[in-house]
Amino acid sequence: MQFEELGLGAEVLRAVAEAGYKEPTPIQQKAIPTVLMGRDVLGVAQTGTGKTAGFTLPMIDILASGRAKMRMPRSLILEPTRELAAQVADSFEKYGKYHRLSMALLIGGESFKDQEAALDKGVDVLIATPGRLLDLFQRGKILLADSKLLVIDEADRMLDMGFIPDVERIVSLLPRMRQTLFFSATMAPEIRRLADKFLLNPKEISVAPPATAAATVSQYFQRCGQEPKMKRAALRRLLSADDVKSAIVFSNRKRDVGVVHRSLVRHGFDAEALHGDMPQPSRMATLDKFKKGDVRILVCSDVAARGLDIPAVSHVFNYDVPHNAEDYVHRIGRTGRAGRSGTSVTLVTGDDRKTWPAVVRLIGRDVEELPGDTEAAPVPTRETREERPARGSKRRSTRSRSEEAEAKPARKDKSGGERKSRTPAREQEGQAVTAFGDDVPAFMLTPVPNV
Ligand code: AMP
Repeated sequence: MQFEELGLGAEVLRAVAEAGYKEPTPIQQKAIPTVLMGRDVLGVAQTGTGKTAGFTLPMIDILASGRAKMRMPRSLILEPTRELAAQVADSFEKYGKYHRLSMALLIGGESFKDQEAALDKGVDVLIATPGRLLDLFQRGKILLADSKLLVIDEADRMLDMGFIPDVERIVSLLPRMRQTLFFSATMAPEIRRLADKFLLNPKEISVAPPATAAATVSQYFQRCGQEPKMKRAALRRLLSADDVKSAIVFSNRKRDVGVVHRSLVRHGFDAEALHGDMPQPSRMATLDKFKKGDVRILVCSDVAARGLDIPAVSHVFNYDVPHNAEDYVHRIGRTGRAGRSGTSVTLVTGDDRKTWPAVVRLIGRDVEELPGDTEAAPVPTRETREERPARGSKRRSTRSRSEEAEAKPARKDKSGGERKSRTPAREQEGQAVTAFGDDVPAFMLTPVPNV
């Protein structure tokens, strides 16, 4: 199918051609004609599927006729994070370059004054995060009675971030007669309840998650002791590999973002940090620097993981296994984008005995193990010692050891007979090794996760 068949106007088609898109993605094929018809849409789609253009392209055409009144935006797009909001604004600029639509971006961390000035001029497209929008509404700076086109993007993320009461309040301020486009990566019962409440006879569109992360990202994990020092050392070794052109390092805690970032800089790495507590202008500036290639490594929290479109990231490193397995998919999806290949490596410690198997279950495929530094790794079990391939010969899968033991024939010695294990009988029976006496560091006693 071609873009020309979707019913879009000539100017939008020209902008799309200049963006280099050859054909519409599945969500665009399904959503664009429906939106142009004026129908509500319930889209189950993740970022990376092309859903942003799926709603921005027809919106530009719909809004092309008509004029905005002061403080009364004609359309509203709600986004859960400032970064996503800024990204949608970029899309409007790119696809709307042959239209004269006015746009305002209302996100926290930026000056109220500039945002109020933009509203005063009248806006066709208002892109906002819920908190800032309500702030401005309560100050009497904005009226939503004329917003007849509403987009709620990443509804499941809004739910995770506790924004649903704000979203419900905002929707109650919009006219009842409106067109609503509602997108979510998943359809949990709470999301379905909201969709039923906000939408009128919607067309339901569901597209498979983008294959990019699964198909083009080579995923590895490496065992590591849970001591922060060990994790940082392991990370430095990984970042020093020749093929690491640009990398995002994800940490679960904001505090660790700072610690890891400072440590990398101290060790001479070209790194910047990005997390939710930073003032918005410096968040944007950092992201911009990374996108332009002016800095090689970005250490960040999950706020930067969702939906960010940074085309040339060669590696993603998970300094921590994310608490929420879905975040893993979003994190590794920052590399291997737009058909490029990418690599992800996750550091797995004894603390991750629950979270890492959950990730492996979610992605539904094996993740290969990179040989780690034996000194940094938790004390290897008999199985890991025997099954770990020699250094340089690479990689084990994440199947449980018992599965692997079943899958593997007993090893043979050179003469074809079964090789005798040199492991002491006590260890073979699974008892703890006590040769360290009382001085065994705590991390060494933590069982290795069953990965
Ligand atoms: P999204 O899912 O909206 O975050 O889009 C993911 C990426 O796909 C963005 O970099 C878009 O520029 C790109 N994209 C959107 N539509 C198309 C298309 N029809 N062909 C190729 N790339 C596209």
